[in-house]
Amino acid sequence: MDYIEPHAHMVSRTTADYEAMALAGCRAICEPAFWAGFDRSSPEGFRDYYRQLTDYEPKRAAKFGIPHFCWLCINPKEAEDAGFAREVMALIPEFLDAPTVLGIGEIGLNKNTRNELAIFEEHVQLALDRDLAILIHTPHLEDKLKGTRLTLDALANFSALDRNRVIIDHVEEHTVDLVLDAGYWAGMTLYPESKCTPNRAIDILETHEGGRLWLNSACDWGVSDPLAVVRCGLEMRKRKYPPEAIEKVLLENPKRFLGQCPNFKLG
Ligand SMILES: [Zn+2]
Repeated sequence: MDYIEPHAHMVSRTTADYEAMALAGCRAICEPAFWAGFDRSSPEGFRDYYRQLTDYEPKRAAKFGIPHFCWLCINPKEAEDAGFAREVMALIPEFLDAPTVLGIGEIGLNKNTRNELAIFEEHVQLALDRDLAILIHTPHLEDKLKGTRLTLDALANFSALDRNRVIIDHVEEHTVDLVLDAGYWAGMTLYPESKCTPNRAIDILETHEGGRLWLNSACDWGVSDPLAVVRCGLEMRKRKYPPEAIEKVLLENPKRFLGQCPNFKLG
């Protein structure tokens, strides 16, 4: 089943995961910069992380014939100390010209604080200044609805923003309409324990037009499944979706969004 994994934290995964994804039909992997499961002790720790995302991880993926792309930022979980966050942000421009960088992400809010919001807005401005697409993380559980509203309010202040080049990820039943109605793309993250299950994601697809939705596994350092996207495709097959409807969600939609990033190419 050909598919794109548009949001995966491969630095946390094994080569066996790459092989399984290649065997399952993965044509491209996109990795947003995020928390590593622990707070870095200095801004320089991010220089190494950006090198890993722009240099080492594409080489690891290439061994399995999969193109690997990335998004760069300081994630909201480590952005509460605004001084620290700005020191990290000062490192980002030197990596933005790497040939596999797609844009700025995953930025956004974690605990919906004032400092997180300030750093989020500075990232949006950086993306506008460099004419880059944006990938946005939304908070989990009880913070999600409020965080999504705060994110949309903040974005509305950027009149130059092309909403078709912004994807707001980890939407669920109670936030998907807010995002799509405002003209942005929306991502559904398939997790074994939290976020969306494949069945919930398919229910959302069935009740929405679906032209601006994608699926991802996030597959990070926590309990997660690097094959979640293709497993969801299998579930759609069980529900008697025609092959072209499955391909639209798993391959064509992410290709259309990512195709707006000049560096993106399918393998
Ligand atoms: Zn993520």
